[in-house]
Amino acid sequence: MQFCDECGAMMIPFTKEDGTRVLKCRSCGYIENPEGDMMVSQPIEKTPRDKIIVVEDDSIPMPITKAACPKCGHNEAYYWTLQTRRGDEGATEFYRCTKCSATWRRY
Ligand SMILES: [Zn+2]
Ligand SMILES: [Zn+2]
Repeated sequence: MQFCDECGAMMIPFTKEDGTRVLKCRSCGYIENPEGDMMVSQPIEKTPRDKIIVVEDDSIPMPITKAACPKCGHNEAYYWTLQTRRGDEGATEFYRCTKCSATWRRY
Protein backbone atom coordinates (compact mmCIF):
# COMPACT_ATOMS: atom_id res chain seq x y z
CA MET A 1 0.00 0.00 0.00
CA GLN A 2 1.34 3.38 -1.02
CA PHE A 3 0.23 6.80 0.01
CA CYS A 4 0.49 10.06 -1.84
CA ASP A 5 3.53 12.20 -1.11
CA GLU A 6 1.47 15.31 -1.67
CA CYS A 7 -1.72 14.75 0.27
CA GLY A 8 -1.36 11.38 2.01
CA ALA A 9 -4.30 9.76 0.25
CA MET A 10 -4.16 6.18 -1.03
CA MET A 11 -2.46 5.63 -4.39
CA ILE A 12 -4.09 3.41 -6.99
CA PRO A 13 -2.46 1.62 -9.94
CA PHE A 14 -2.76 3.64 -13.10
CA THR A 15 -1.59 3.08 -16.65
CA LYS A 16 -0.34 6.13 -18.46
CA GLU A 17 -0.92 6.87 -22.15
CA ASP A 18 2.48 5.47 -23.06
CA GLY A 19 1.70 2.23 -21.23
CA THR A 20 3.82 2.94 -18.18
CA ARG A 21 2.30 1.54 -15.02
CA VAL A 22 2.41 4.06 -12.24
CA LEU A 23 0.64 4.85 -9.01
CA LYS A 24 -1.80 7.71 -9.07
CA CYS A 25 -3.32 9.55 -6.18
CA ARG A 26 -7.10 9.21 -6.07
CA SER A 27 -7.41 12.50 -4.28
CA CYS A 28 -5.08 15.01 -5.97
CA GLY A 29 -3.95 13.18 -9.10
CA TYR A 30 -0.26 13.05 -8.11
CA ILE A 31 1.55 10.41 -10.12
CA GLU A 32 4.43 8.48 -8.71
CA ASN A 33 6.75 6.73 -11.08
CA PRO A 34 7.58 3.17 -10.16
CA GLU A 35 10.82 2.88 -8.27
CA GLY A 36 13.78 2.40 -10.52
CA ASP A 37 12.05 3.89 -13.55
CA MET A 38 14.09 7.05 -13.38
CA MET A 39 17.30 5.27 -12.52
CA VAL A 40 19.72 4.88 -15.36
CA SER A 41 22.13 2.15 -14.50
CA GLN A 42 25.51 3.31 -15.65
CA PRO A 43 28.65 1.95 -14.07
CA ILE A 44 30.85 4.70 -12.78
CA GLU A 45 34.10 4.40 -14.61
CA LYS A 46 37.29 5.03 -12.79
CA THR A 47 39.78 6.52 -15.12
CA PRO A 48 43.50 6.10 -14.60
CA ARG A 49 43.71 9.88 -14.58
CA ASP A 50 42.27 9.84 -11.09
CA LYS A 51 45.32 8.06 -9.81
CA ILE A 52 47.96 10.15 -8.19
CA ILE A 53 51.23 9.38 -9.83
CA VAL A 54 54.10 9.45 -7.41
CA VAL A 55 57.26 10.32 -9.19
CA GLU A 56 60.83 9.98 -8.18
CA ASP A 57 62.76 13.20 -7.89
CA ASP A 58 64.94 12.19 -10.80
CA SER A 59 61.99 11.82 -13.14
CA ILE A 60 60.54 15.28 -12.62
CA PRO A 61 60.68 16.88 -16.03
CA MET A 62 63.12 19.73 -15.98
CA PRO A 63 63.25 22.62 -18.40
CA ILE A 64 65.84 22.42 -21.12
CA THR A 65 67.92 25.43 -21.99
CA LYS A 66 70.75 26.28 -24.30
CA ALA A 67 73.98 25.69 -22.44
CA ALA A 68 77.30 24.42 -23.63
CA CYS A 69 78.37 21.24 -21.90
CA PRO A 70 81.93 21.57 -20.59
CA LYS A 71 82.45 17.85 -21.04
CA CYS A 72 81.11 16.93 -24.46
CA GLY A 73 80.30 20.30 -25.99
CA HIS A 74 76.59 19.52 -26.42
CA ASN A 75 74.51 22.69 -26.35
CA GLU A 76 71.37 21.56 -24.57
CA ALA A 77 71.07 21.00 -20.87
CA TYR A 78 68.42 20.59 -18.22
CA TYR A 79 68.57 23.37 -15.74
CA TRP A 80 67.27 24.11 -12.30
CA THR A 81 68.07 26.60 -9.61
CA LEU A 82 68.84 26.28 -5.94
CA GLN A 83 68.56 29.15 -3.54
CA THR A 84 71.72 29.59 -1.55
CA ARG A 85 71.63 30.23 2.16
CA ARG A 86 72.60 33.86 1.79
CA GLY A 87 69.71 35.56 0.06
CA ASP A 88 71.84 38.32 -1.41
CA GLU A 89 73.76 35.83 -3.52
CA GLY A 90 70.68 34.78 -5.41
CA ALA A 91 70.01 31.36 -6.81
CA THR A 92 72.68 29.06 -8.14
CA GLU A 93 71.90 27.68 -11.56
CA PHE A 94 72.57 24.04 -12.19
CA TYR A 95 72.88 22.44 -15.59
CA ARG A 96 72.86 18.83 -16.65
CA CYS A 97 73.83 17.90 -20.16
CA THR A 98 70.98 16.14 -22.00
CA LYS A 99 73.54 14.06 -23.85
CA CYS A 100 76.18 12.92 -21.40
CA SER A 101 74.50 13.85 -18.11
CA ALA A 102 77.45 15.93 -16.99
CA THR A 103 76.31 18.35 -14.28
CA TRP A 104 77.76 21.75 -13.63
CA ARG A 105 76.67 24.96 -12.07
CA ARG A 106 76.86 28.63 -12.72
CA TYR A 107 76.85 31.31 -10.08
ZN1 LIG B 1 -2.56 13.14 -3.39
ZN1 LIG C 1 77.63 16.70 -22.27
